[in-house]
Amino acid sequence: MTTSDGTVQGRTQIHGTAPRNRAFTIVLLGDGFTVAQQTAFNNACTYFVTGLTSTPPFDKAGRAINIWRVNVTSTDSGADDPVGPGGTGTTARTYFDATFGANGIRRLLVCNNATVLQTAAAQVPEFTVALVVVNSTIYGGSGGSVGTYSLADGATEIALHEIGHSAYGLADEYAYYAGGDETGQDYHPAGEPAEPNVTLNTDRSTLKWGWAVATTTALPTMSNPNCAKVDGRPSTVPAGTVGCFEGAHYYHCRAFRPEHICKMKDLGDPFCQVCLQAIRARTKRAKNICALTPMKDAVYRYDGTGTSWTRIGGPAGQIYAGGWGLVATNPGTGDLYRYLGTPDMWQHIGGAGASFAVAPDTVYALTPNKDAVYRYNGTGTSWTKIGGPAGQIYAGGWGLVATNPSTGDLYRYLGTPDMWQHIGGAGASFAVAPDTVF
Ligand SMILES: [Zn+2]
Repeated sequence: MTTSDGTVQGRTQIHGTAPRNRAFTIVLLGDGFTVAQQTAFNNACTYFVTGLTSTPPFDKAGRAINIWRVNVTSTDSGADDPVGPGGTGTTARTYFDATFGANGIRRLLVCNNATVLQTAAAQVPEFTVALVVVNSTIYGGSGGSVGTYSLADGATEIALHEIGHSAYGLADEYAYYAGGDETGQDYHPAGEPAEPNVTLNTDRSTLKWGWAVATTTALPTMSNPNCAKVDGRPSTVPAGTVGCFEGAHYYHCRAFRPEHICKMKDLGDPFCQVCLQAIRARTKRAKNICALTPMKDAVYRYDGTGTSWTRIGGPAGQIYAGGWGLVATNPGTGDLYRYLGTPDMWQHIGGAGASFAVAPDTVYALTPNKDAVYRYNGTGTSWTKIGGPAGQIYAGGWGLVATNPSTGDLYRYLGTPDMWQHIGGAGASFAVAPDTVF
């Protein structure tokens, strides 16, 4: 029932290579796993990573999301499941005191949020969202300051839905509260919901997701013909149409959702375009701006407000930044160092190069005599040769491009060593944007 019913064993990073100070960081904590069941928790976390990284838009987030697991043992296996809301009456002594049946609804799985947040902060101080994995196969989960999910079938789907609440502030888009056509949920009360993905307003000029609605789409797009029930009809417009579909935010009528389907409405469906955009906007943390002083005697990072900067490193020869983070060369040796997110903490990751280019997932180097291109493998000082001579290299969200040293023609790296595609003629200089090359 309390923290005397278990022990925090420690943390392990299981996904991501983003610098810790600018990553979107998910922390998974276990509840109801005994000492002997920690492997089951570890496996559940691996399963979560696989599910998250194969689900849009997270599949495009590269290594920018860091995921940690915090192993916590509990005296007993499972969670409380009170009889009142339809449970078995089971009680379990667990560290975070997880219980089904909150608010009289069995699938509402909650725990001691204060203990969860304290534990997450102690283990991974930069965490963005804490998610408790509860060792039970009873269906359940919840969002809020802490997300929870059980190991019922489709556990990852529950987890992604709850992350939609906890990390991105998305509303439930389903049109019921306790699970059916219950009374008292016919008409959404007045007052515009704060969340970005539900609304009472179908005025095209002021609709909060008006940017996503085609001028040819009718508003409302579908209206519920019987407000005593959830509108269970199939969509009357093509899949992917963004408009106003009546039935959302626990009510049959007067509240609208952006698409007919969404993961915030039904597990197993993709996120709608409005939820996708909300997730993308918040997963991309503000890019850090870094500068090397004119005398090259220190590296500074912009604090994000006013003209305030923080000194994060000493002398550098050159600095390069990109999605993967910040790297700098030693002014004496030319060796490459990666900034670890804490002032004056830098890791030696490689030798000197003619130039470097930082991509979303790693850093590339052109050898000092420009006879080969190398890709950093992510650990120690290990690099892989991926191409021959190049004039210059450029990286960005779209990937890596290099110029032919004699013709100046542009080539794109295809992801496999020595596999390059000719994509253009000579240019004075190139810059790589997230989706194309200029
Ligand atoms: Zn949605």
